[in-house]
Amino acid sequence: MRTQVAIIGAGPAGLLLAHLLHRGGVDAVVIETRSQEYVAARIRAGILESSSVDLLESVGLGERLRAEGHEHRGIYLQLPGERHHLDFVDLAGRSVWVYGQTEVQKDLVAAGTAQVFYEASQVELHSLQDRPYVTFTDSSGAAQRLDADVIAGCDGSFGPSRAAATPGERYERVYPYSWLGILADVAPSTDELIYAWHPGGFALHSMRSETVSRLYLQVPNGTDPADWPDDRIWAELATRLGHGQDGWKLTPGPVTDKSVLPMRSYVQTPMRRGRLFLAGDAAHIVPPTGAKGLNLAVADVALLSRALVALLIDGDARLADSYSDDALRRVWRCTHFSWWMTTMLHASGDPFDAQLQLSQLRWVTSSEAGATGLAENYAGLPIGF
Ligand SMILES: Cc1cc2nc3c(=O)[nH]c(=O)nc-3n(C[C@H](O)[C@H](O)[C@H](O)COP(=O)(O)OP(=O)(O)OC[C@H]3O[C@@H](n4cnc5c(N)ncnc54)[C@H](O)[C@@H]3O)c2cc1C
Repeated sequence: MRTQVAIIGAGPAGLLLAHLLHRGGVDAVVIETRSQEYVAARIRAGILESSSVDLLESVGLGERLRAEGHEHRGIYLQLPGERHHLDFVDLAGRSVWVYGQTEVQKDLVAAGTAQVFYEASQVELHSLQDRPYVTFTDSSGAAQRLDADVIAGCDGSFGPSRAAATPGERYERVYPYSWLGILADVAPSTDELIYAWHPGGFALHSMRSETVSRLYLQVPNGTDPADWPDDRIWAELATRLGHGQDGWKLTPGPVTDKSVLPMRSYVQTPMRRGRLFLAGDAAHIVPPTGAKGLNLAVADVALLSRALVALLIDGDARLADSYSDDALRRVWRCTHFSWWMTTMLHASGDPFDAQLQLSQLRWVTSSEAGATGLAENYAGLPIGF
């Protein structure tokens, strides 16, 4: 087989890239190891920045998002005995939208613009400097070879593209804690997300819809979810999120999903090797505290699709040559913001750290300058920043 762009991975980065290329008149074929159902059901991110929403809307993917998603003006920051609201629209002129990654994935599949080989195995990348091609075994067991002008590595942190893009520089920070996340069939107890600092550890009250809540607790690395029966989770969430404070109540409900998510920052540079371009989690990972992972994937492929259309339709290599530097400016901004939110809100066990965190949180919740910095980064900087 032959195509212009061979895309590895049918997560949000891969499918959105295929959609954007299709609109730009460039052919692409996507190769994915998992089944379509598995990819569509994976519970992950849930917050879209305004620039992601604008981009999805501008390419015909905004209808259900606007109808079924929920626009949030800001977030709450919770400290023991105190709750503060930060209004991003007032502070930075932008809002965020609650719309699950599962829904973005469904919209991309429904658009029908990507030709995808699901359930592929033995996916290998070859000849990256010139005439690249991908070999794989398709779902029927047949060996396939896909020749392309360019390969886009959108296969997340465990796929083969990241390794194929080395040698390069790798930057990594592993945090000494994880998140225990639950999905619960209960209406959210809050209208906007609550980020809670607590001496016992961070907690977050998020949501997916009017009837589904998503909540997280900071737990030690290596935590076994089996050690956290539902009652224990709800009791700890109630303590950390301030149940009873000023009459606020956390309403528990049936837990439908429970998992532990390690916290890591990772950036690989450059995001290109020869004819291989990396996008999304294949090139970088952020801890989810800043809600940036999915948004970074969207921003990367917005830049990459423009670069590949210019390269493959007009023969103009300038955007492709600057893609890595252009994308990395935003990647590092979001990496810093995600690190900053993480280290400001998670208990480290060190009393000195705790006092610094409280000082920082008091500044963010009492100074317009402090609050605006958080708002501008959380609601998202423009694509191409
Ligand atoms: C377990 C997990 C939980 C997360 N939870 C949150 C959260 O709660 N909040 C938040 O804000 N963010 C969260 N994130 C981050 C966010 O979901 C990611 O940043 C986002 O999915 C990035 O999209 P992507 O398309 O780059 O990568 P992915 O979504 O990882 O997609 C990569 C795709 O490549 C496929 N693939 C892998 N190997 C191969 C191969 N050899 N050949 C072909 N295809 C391959 C994978 O199956 C996958 O479909 C989470 C991420 C993970 C991994």
